[in-house]
Amino acid sequence: MLDTFAGNKEIKESVRSFIKSGRFPHAFIIEGEEGSGRRTLAKILAAAAVCESENAPCGSCRVCDLVTRDGHSDVLTYRPDGATFKIDTVREIRDNAYVMPIEGKRKVNILLDCDKMNEPAQNAFLKVLEEPPEFMVFILICQNAQSLLTTVRSRCVTLTVQNPDLAEAVNFISLKTGKPEADILEALENSHGNIGKALDILSGTAAEAVTAAKAIFAAVKERDRLSALKTVLSFEKDRLGFTAFLGELRLLAQREAVKCAKGEGEVGLSVVSRLLRIAEDTEMRVRRHVGQPLSIQLTSTAMVAEIFDGM
Ligand SMILES: [Zn+2]
Repeated sequence: MLDTFAGNKEIKESVRSFIKSGRFPHAFIIEGEEGSGRRTLAKILAAAAVCESENAPCGSCRVCDLVTRDGHSDVLTYRPDGATFKIDTVREIRDNAYVMPIEGKRKVNILLDCDKMNEPAQNAFLKVLEEPPEFMVFILICQNAQSLLTTVRSRCVTLTVQNPDLAEAVNFISLKTGKPEADILEALENSHGNIGKALDILSGTAAEAVTAAKAIFAAVKERDRLSALKTVLSFEKDRLGFTAFLGELRLLAQREAVKCAKGEGEVGLSVVSRLLRIAEDTEMRVRRHVGQPLSIQLTSTAMVAEIFDGM
């Protein structure tokens, strides 16, 4: 399970040594920027703490599966209530910490956004951190460990999550999403190597692309050139989005062509075929220019002109 975490070789090595030695720390701080995989790592640590397989965290037993799906009764996640991690929440955590695990040998509490824990709350937490019950493991997630009191930090093992190198990041996203490498590279460039943000870009792009492709289709049907222009120009500064949009437009045209063949099409077969050819040509033009400057504005307005001039 540890191997599925992208990059961060040193973290993986130290976690392996904790597991192997049987001296699993009572408290971790996982620091890193949003989208860097901190929660994923926290779940792997939690699974390592509660999985009872020989090669824990095995990632394939019932326990690991429950941890992954946030369904294990001994692995609880706490988060701030709005802008602050309230002292009441911390007191609840503290009181629950002395209750025995329900299922297994250990209990894990994952605390999100600990940067939002103020000093009184941290001091309240310190009481249980100083003498934690034998079965208890705390995982504190934050952007920067410096936001926590020295007294808290000194009782935790701090793991700093970093963005993996490009090849590893591409491989990870490709396995997860099956997206084309060129799209993944572009998303990673826009997210500065942050995998979580790159995934957001890739999925957000998909939704936007579908909406835009449908809008073009509607514009063609209504012969509304202006609205088609507006739609394509929304991608003026978003080449990745534009490529995704062209892909969606092509798919939509293909589907429409099938409908036309059955006599169910909303626009004529000749219009659909031309739209399909134009979408394919434009898509190829954009893909050929990977890594080179290309004006999306010119490319997209030329595309709309070609579609509407022929109608
Ligand atoms: Zn397991």
